[in-house]
Amino acid sequence: MVDLVTQYENIQEEIDSAVLDVIRSSAYINGPEVRSFQEELESYLGVKHVIPCANGTDALQVAMMGLGLKPGDEVITATFTYVATAEVIALLQLTPVLVDVDPNTFLIDLEAVEAAITPKTKAIVPVHLFGQVANMDGLMKIAKKHNLKVVEDTAQAIGADYTFSDGTTQKAGTIGDVGCTSFFPSKNLGCMGDGGAIFTNDDELAAEMRMVVNHGQSKRYYHDRIGVNSRLDSLQAAILRVKLRKLDNYSNSRKAVAEYYDKAFASCEQLVTPVRAEGSTHVFHQYTMMVKNGKRDELQSALAEKGIPSMIYYPVALHMQEAYKDDRYPNGHFPVTERLVDEVISLPMHTEMDDEQLEYIASSVLEFINKD
Ligand SMILES: *Cc1c(COP(=O)(O)O)cnc(C)c1O
Repeated sequence: MVDLVTQYENIQEEIDSAVLDVIRSSAYINGPEVRSFQEELESYLGVKHVIPCANGTDALQVAMMGLGLKPGDEVITATFTYVATAEVIALLQLTPVLVDVDPNTFLIDLEAVEAAITPKTKAIVPVHLFGQVANMDGLMKIAKKHNLKVVEDTAQAIGADYTFSDGTTQKAGTIGDVGCTSFFPSKNLGCMGDGGAIFTNDDELAAEMRMVVNHGQSKRYYHDRIGVNSRLDSLQAAILRVKLRKLDNYSNSRKAVAEYYDKAFASCEQLVTPVRAEGSTHVFHQYTMMVKNGKRDELQSALAEKGIPSMIYYPVALHMQEAYKDDRYPNGHFPVTERLVDEVISLPMHTEMDDEQLEYIASSVLEFINKD
């Protein structure tokens, strides 16, 4: 699905020297590399504050703690996402309120969001799934109207641009009150271990979240609130500085792969290639298509037999998960998501794919689809 070895080999000298510099400096925790990465990411994103942390799940947790959400507050998110989004909501004893997604873009459905709002609703967490930004134009209007906080989960869409109806453009994760991302190795901006970050333009909220990630302290050994320990390692920051400089090129490589697949499958009625969301660029964290002939699993096996990996993101929706089952959401409650879990398949997508690989994958997919 990804080829992190080849990616490393292509930038080995830069990575090795960055890592060795940190080791030789012994500034392993909160060293100058972390500060430099923070500043470089702020300038890349055009956001006032980046707060590095230990992983994307922590980023979401810190955001919700920083916003001062209280047990029982309702937080709306999509049921078609990675578990982390709902996990931290539940962990903080907030109430996850799940909603369905758009059948074409797989992004959170705004009508469903509006319908789910109650007097207890305090926040919305749109997930910029697979590399596209949710309808932030509409979502920010809903949030404003109902006085709700917006926490963008942009773990899959770092670098994507969103253009509002008035023509202004902002980076994914810098639009809501807070943006949260992950630097897990296979993410679009991945480190060589775990890492994450939180973005905001709000000075007060930034100060609060900086306290949260650092044991709730504003001054060493003075703890003003309950916090957590969530840091980005200096080694990871040094690696991320190298890779941030390549992020736009990496996004372009992903886009070229997507365009190849799009073209290869264009005349195939059984396959629905990724539909582009209005206002958003697509950074293709995943190339996820729908298989309409009911043979998604057979396609996956046929590809596996030819040595081609593929993944189902996600095979089980949140409301069907053992840990998140809830009487509010019986089977059939979210028809779009419940169909998607049976139809979607993600093909290999990374920054180092060559034409030979693409040709082999595309022809293998077509061979299976056209065989009957
Ligand atoms: C990867 C991911 C996360 C969690 O990131 P970690 O760094 O693995 O904790 C959260 N949300 C989404 C949508 C993700 O894809």
